[in-house]
Amino acid sequence: MKNSKIYGKWLKDFGLNHPLVIAGPCSAETEEQVLKIAHQLKKTDATVMRAGIWKPRTRPGNFEGVGAIGLKWMQRAKEETGLLLATEVANKAHVDLALQAGIDILWIGARSTVSPFIVQEIANALQGTDKIVLVKNPVNPDLSLWLGAVERLYHADIKNLGVIHRGFSTYEKTRYRNNPEWQIPIDLQSRFPDLPLLLDPSHIGGRRDIIFNLCQTALDLNYDGFMVETHFDPDNAWSDADQQITPETLAQITVDLKIRKEEGDALEFKNKLNTLRTQIDLIDSQLMATMGKRMKIVDSIGELKKQNNVAILQVKRWNKVLERMNTIGKEENLSEEFIDRVFKAIHQESIQHQQQKGNS
Ligand code: PEP
Ligand code: MN
Repeated sequence: MKNSKIYGKWLKDFGLNHPLVIAGPCSAETEEQVLKIAHQLKKTDATVMRAGIWKPRTRPGNFEGVGAIGLKWMQRAKEETGLLLATEVANKAHVDLALQAGIDILWIGARSTVSPFIVQEIANALQGTDKIVLVKNPVNPDLSLWLGAVERLYHADIKNLGVIHRGFSTYEKTRYRNNPEWQIPIDLQSRFPDLPLLLDPSHIGGRRDIIFNLCQTALDLNYDGFMVETHFDPDNAWSDADQQITPETLAQITVDLKIRKEEGDALEFKNKLNTLRTQIDLIDSQLMATMGKRMKIVDSIGELKKQNNVAILQVKRWNKVLERMNTIGKEENLSEEFIDRVFKAIHQESIQHQQQKGNS
């Protein structure tokens, strides 16, 4: 991919003075629902209305979308409100129907991005059109798979491109429905700075209360906008009820978000500094979470030692830990003195934890 400048032209052409907002229900449910939410969204910052017509559900038996009829409802919503339309496509038949219906933005879902066959089928079906195509990250944390999908589209002469960060699956339960793994979109952004990058806080969060913070982090990392699931009656939505917000909440979020407005060199400096600081904050949070996990294991060891009447301090083991960390630390360009200080502190905290266990 050579001329990365051209990807983002479509977004510049929108001429917005705020981040792009794509909003709308997880799924189109009824014609009334689609029209009602469209009129409500018209009063927010949303430029594009999203709605899922064909729903990829991880397990069968859930609502799988209304199908092509929903495209007619969306067309009507566009006629009445002027909002642009976006929907997910997962095969050639979807693409053909979406093109016939005049859908403006097509997105490739996380479960499709993982499959080069599906992405190629979609790319072939779209060859040479001027549609805007947004690629969600694959469900697994794999940057090349994500880039590969963008490249397949690019090679099919689809130049109006963008990506959506919707988080990554983990087996382990975390506070997110899909772990953000911010480093992956950050890496993608540094490779292709002109490829518009949007955040989907709904599928990352899986719940309403963290949507604002996720959006703010994204802005601090220079994202270009959001795709947010929005429903006038979120609790009764037919899919993804826990994570949808009302258009009123969406409007409030866009008011509360801090968007940097300065211009020129000072802005560039501040943006860069902010981006780097946000990266540091994310890594610090990861460090704390990792430290917490370590202490939990330490507690289990403490319990085991207590049951077996073994002393808490095992000098030989401790020396081995330190030796191993010094080797790894050297590769990471960290001084022996620093490793020593950090691990002494960790060790002290570990002993304290085990003493508490021993006394309990
Ligand atoms: C969606 O946007 O409704 C959707 C199914 O998203 P994802 O592909 O990110 O799971
Ligand atoms: Mn959804």
